[in-house]
Amino acid sequence: MDYISAGDIEKYSYCPLSWWLSRNEKHAENEGVKKHREISKGAADMKKKYSQMKEFESMAIYFSVGATIIALVGISFFYTSLILSRTFIIFSILWLGFSVYLLWKSEKSVSVDRKRTERIMVSTSAAATTLSIFSVTFLLPPNYTLGYVLEVLSLLWLVFATYFLYMAMKKDIQYNEIKRKLQLPDGEIIYIDDLQKSPILKSEKYKIWGRPDLLIKKGEDYIPVEIKTGRVPRGPHFSHIMQLTAYMLLVEENYKAPPYGLLKYGPVIYKIDYEEDLKNLMLQKVKEMREALKTGEVHRNHNKIGKCLHCSRRDICPERLA
Ligand code: SF4
Repeated sequence: MDYISAGDIEKYSYCPLSWWLSRNEKHAENEGVKKHREISKGAADMKKKYSQMKEFESMAIYFSVGATIIALVGISFFYTSLILSRTFIIFSILWLGFSVYLLWKSEKSVSVDRKRTERIMVSTSAAATTLSIFSVTFLLPPNYTLGYVLEVLSLLWLVFATYFLYMAMKKDIQYNEIKRKLQLPDGEIIYIDDLQKSPILKSEKYKIWGRPDLLIKKGEDYIPVEIKTGRVPRGPHFSHIMQLTAYMLLVEENYKAPPYGLLKYGPVIYKIDYEEDLKNLMLQKVKEMREALKTGEVHRNHNKIGKCLHCSRRDICPERLA
């Protein structure tokens, strides 16, 4: 069975004949396509800025934590204290115990988020190691030279942390500037229809394929976004809702069922809930399209003059109303 694209579902939902006539069309670079490309480029830039911001943020955190640890180790070289040494040993054992408990729990339970648990385990083990270092250094006789060297090193680390924080803030400002300019919805962009890098989404079950303009991650959900250029309508068009529903189905099969999808017309964004009725209606259209491909019988299914007036295939259409 041949695959049907979400773009074709949109054309068929507008008018079956429009879809039929479009099958032999060569795609011309019109204003809409150019505008789309501009948005895709901007979104790709935005995605890049976002990941750079996150990288700089992580570096700032690592260097701040490093600076704190080095400073504390440095301080411990100024004093000798049996009480502090024993206190740190106790805390170190407690952290280690917590880490072992997490390991046991993640092995035992399937519902535990393993990645998150692993991250916590690495942090608790690092904390236990640091505390055990303190317990040793507080037992050693004072070493002022080493203490001062470590304090200077800690300041240097802090300078790096400040630099990475500054860069993270800079990328955040750039990210928000592009977002404001493109008037894109909130969330982390994880997929862009750039025709090169992002893979085509396919549904093996229903033999449908497509590329949503954007896929945005909001919390644990993946939200497809379809961007329409041109004039802003008073409400979302039925054909666009069908196209978006096809994308929601593709997201369901490739990621997880989205709670809704977004249709963006200029600055206006419509939220379309992913409902069973809508999905069935879209699948019914796909069934009709397959039938039409078999029989070759396709006709206009409406009496709306406005539709024909705005139809890009009216010049070659034998059933046009205007
Ligand atoms: S001109 Fe009218 S009937 Fe013909 S394809 Fe377009 S919308 Fe359909």
